[in-house]
Amino acid sequence: MESLDAFARAKLAALEQRSLRRTLAETTRLEGPWVERDGRRLLSFCCNDYLNLSMHPTVVAASVEATRQYGVGAGGSRLVTGNHPLYGALEARLARLKGTEDACVFGSGYLANTGIIPALAGKDDLLLVDELAHACIWTGVALSGGTILRIRHNDAAHAADLLEGARARHRHVVILTETVFSMDGDLAPLAELAALAERHDAWLMTDDAHGIGVLGGGRGGVHAGERPAQVPLQMGTLSKAIGAYGGYLCASRPVIDLIRTRARTLIYATGLPPGTVAAAIAALDLIAADPAYAALPVRKARLFTRLLGLPEAASPIVPLILGEAPAALAASRLLAEAGFLVSAIRPPTVPEGTSRLRFTFTAQHSDEAITRLADLVRERILGAGI
Ligand SMILES: *Cc1c(COP(=O)(O)O)cnc(C)c1O
Repeated sequence: MESLDAFARAKLAALEQRSLRRTLAETTRLEGPWVERDGRRLLSFCCNDYLNLSMHPTVVAASVEATRQYGVGAGGSRLVTGNHPLYGALEARLARLKGTEDACVFGSGYLANTGIIPALAGKDDLLLVDELAHACIWTGVALSGGTILRIRHNDAAHAADLLEGARARHRHVVILTETVFSMDGDLAPLAELAALAERHDAWLMTDDAHGIGVLGGGRGGVHAGERPAQVPLQMGTLSKAIGAYGGYLCASRPVIDLIRTRARTLIYATGLPPGTVAAAIAALDLIAADPAYAALPVRKARLFTRLLGLPEAASPIVPLILGEAPAALAASRLLAEAGFLVSAIRPPTVPEGTSRLRFTFTAQHSDEAITRLADLVRERILGAGI
């Protein structure tokens, strides 16, 4: 189809011109935080495998064993024949970790958000969303068909104003935020949002993709404060610190029963491979056995922010905002030449004018490597005014 290819080419050329075209780079993950790209060994500071569990021998062995026993694929939706025995074990661990009655595991975090939100909210409802929330939260709220209002980032007072103005016109209200913001690494004001939700009979839903395994002794962002925030809908993913794949919701029994009955991305998608579920179980057991290990990624991030005089890291994620996309791409290339892999994050992943380097720290990054990286960033990026 000539018109189809012409359409694709024109779109790509326009993106290329704005430094916004994306390409896939073949990357082989080696041991710990090391990777190989274009025949070179690079130390990666952009992987979300915060605890390096995706290659942990115990986790790999659990996955291989489950694959032998149950096969490579689930063979069907969980509602038909795909609900292999490992699901119950994983959901019980997640509910215990998060302190909820029950849990439901989805195919991915993306599928979880796009399934949960429209199952709980419809056209008469109001959805308040932090402006920096992840793309799949925005897709989920759009699919609900409800009224969507954007909360200024981490601004509970703005959320309160929006609720004062709009609560009365809506049947139900859902407030959506991340516990740890994926591109900024800062934490949501969960206690304030929970109190606000309580006052207005709104339902607070958190996305703990970057909190589970690394904050609150491994329990996640909701448990990072002095006492756990009251969050009835705790969503997250198994694909970051847990090192495997899959998404989940932890909530009360009636809510989970409803989700299992109504979430389209659960009902109409094949269950996760048994080996993946087994890996997540093994990873959660390792985390529960060693909370001190879970604390390492944040400690490593804090070493980096201290060395550079940046605001203290609250999570394993540290952004360095450079402005326009070409500046972020140039900085990323410069670090790659010195042996460090740090990707440039550009719009639409982040707002226009806030292209950045996003550094993520893992348990196995050495203090020496972090110091070398910080020196390089200070001298060649901050110093050079890229
Ligand atoms: C990565 C991420 C997701 C998606 O999770 P997957 O399991 O990778 O699909 C959802 N929300 C946030 C905040 C994320 O960072």
